[in-house]
Amino acid sequence: MDVLRALAETEPTPYWLADPAAPEPAAALTGLISCDLAVVGGGYTGLWTALRAKERDPSLDVVLLEADIAGGAASGRNGGFCSASLTHGLGNGLARWPGEMPTLERLGRENLDGIEATLRRYGIDCEFERTGELDVATEDWQLAELAALAKEAAAVGRKLELLDDGAVRAEVGSPTYRGGLWDRDGVAMVHPAKLAWGLRQACLTAGVRVFERTPVRSVEDDDGRLRLRTPYGSAVAAQVALGTGGFPAPLRRLRHFIAPVYDYVLVTEPLSAAQLASIGWRNRQGVGDSGNQFHYYRLTADNRVLWGGYDAIYHYGGAVRAELERRPETFAMLARHFFTTFPQLPDVRFSHAWGGVIDTCSRFCAFYGTAHGGRLAYAAGYTGLGVGATRFGADVMLDLLSGTETERTRLAMVRSRPVPFPPEPLRYGVVQLTRWSLARADRRQGRRNLWLRALDAFGVGFDS
Ligand SMILES: Cc1cc2nc3c(=O)[nH]c(=O)nc-3n(C[C@H](O)[C@H](O)[C@H](O)COP(=O)(O)OP(=O)(O)OC[C@H]3O[C@@H](n4cnc5c(N)ncnc54)[C@H](O)[C@@H]3O)c2cc1C
Repeated sequence: MDVLRALAETEPTPYWLADPAAPEPAAALTGLISCDLAVVGGGYTGLWTALRAKERDPSLDVVLLEADIAGGAASGRNGGFCSASLTHGLGNGLARWPGEMPTLERLGRENLDGIEATLRRYGIDCEFERTGELDVATEDWQLAELAALAKEAAAVGRKLELLDDGAVRAEVGSPTYRGGLWDRDGVAMVHPAKLAWGLRQACLTAGVRVFERTPVRSVEDDDGRLRLRTPYGSAVAAQVALGTGGFPAPLRRLRHFIAPVYDYVLVTEPLSAAQLASIGWRNRQGVGDSGNQFHYYRLTADNRVLWGGYDAIYHYGGAVRAELERRPETFAMLARHFFTTFPQLPDVRFSHAWGGVIDTCSRFCAFYGTAHGGRLAYAAGYTGLGVGATRFGADVMLDLLSGTETERTRLAMVRSRPVPFPPEPLRYGVVQLTRWSLARADRRQGRRNLWLRALDAFGVGFDS
């Protein structure tokens, strides 16, 4: 295995976004327009919100304003694990809202089924494969945690299958596995950019006016409506929905709750039939390992391996810049970890490597709210598990804007907020200390130090 050779010809761009199916960007907004609902951000959150709004009321005049290109940020460059979980995993949900979990699990399942039905209805081909996910243990302490989770899952009506080392390696052949937990249908694999582009097209077909390369600089009250200022024009809207992910939101109060964190991914060249046979992987599940610092990996439609995660990098001051999407030391580390997991693939080369920004919050799953007297709603903080949950977030925002209580808006998960991050320079120090402690716990059979135990006691943490 030669990491430098494996990365020598790697394109430092997102594999998914390099697809010829990429649409031509729409024109930027110029001049003054008015509308019923202005959606800010063209990731999944914004696209689902615009589409769901038109589905609720086709006569609504909906405008979508995207700073760059729709799906160009996290939504078009992620791992493509589309999970039913609304809580960044079952364990996190059970720790925070144990009594609500049966409802959250049902709503999450309905949400994933709803995504599948939407893809069929609009003819969106995003390589959707409902393969499930295999969480693998590479250390004995992780196996014990997976076994405990299987029991807790059963108590809320979820069937997760615990596999021993032989059974898990029969699924995916890595000598590092000690066991695993298989969720057979709660997760689907998607081509993330094709999902975003398909939703964008569905929005256009439904009559949403989409403006790209149109950053919203400010949102201000304007005589009972809201005025959104952009570089070459303004939109005046009765209501606004914000889906700006890990970017600095035009609503300043959100910035206390979100830390933009970079997550990185490699993609290999397509595996040959013999290479694929050496791993097995006939059920094509998504795979995640179970440390605090974890990898996630999956097959693409043409049998490349997407391999990402582990490092979650926060930059001082919450910096979000294009050059931070390339991190050679993380790419090299990910490649080393790949070859440790799959030593039977020493000659594999990586075709693409990239990073993207995640909207991390201290409770790891999205939070919701309103501002400007209920005329603006927001959903943010998906912390690395938003491919599926953003559709639910879109519905929550539309419920909040409608002013009518629903099953969703009554949820404690929806009504509560995460603990805010402290301001800089404390924020940077706290994140680094937490990352160091998590890495240390991984080296010490999962044992959590005093700092992590204190954070656990306050229900806060750092994850990706
Ligand atoms: C490398 C990586 C891997 C991931 N893997 C997975 C995975 O496998 N499964 C999973 O569930 N989740 C994963 N995620 C997370 C997932 O991609 C996100 O949770 C999800 O895409 C969030 O969607 P969003 O629309 O809220 O944010 P984004 O996709 O970030 O979209 C926000 C959009 O708002 C725009 N914007 C920002 N500010 C403004 C403004 N002022 N005016 C106009 N537009 C603005 C941005 O340009 C951007 O297009 C991953 C993320 C990354 C980065």
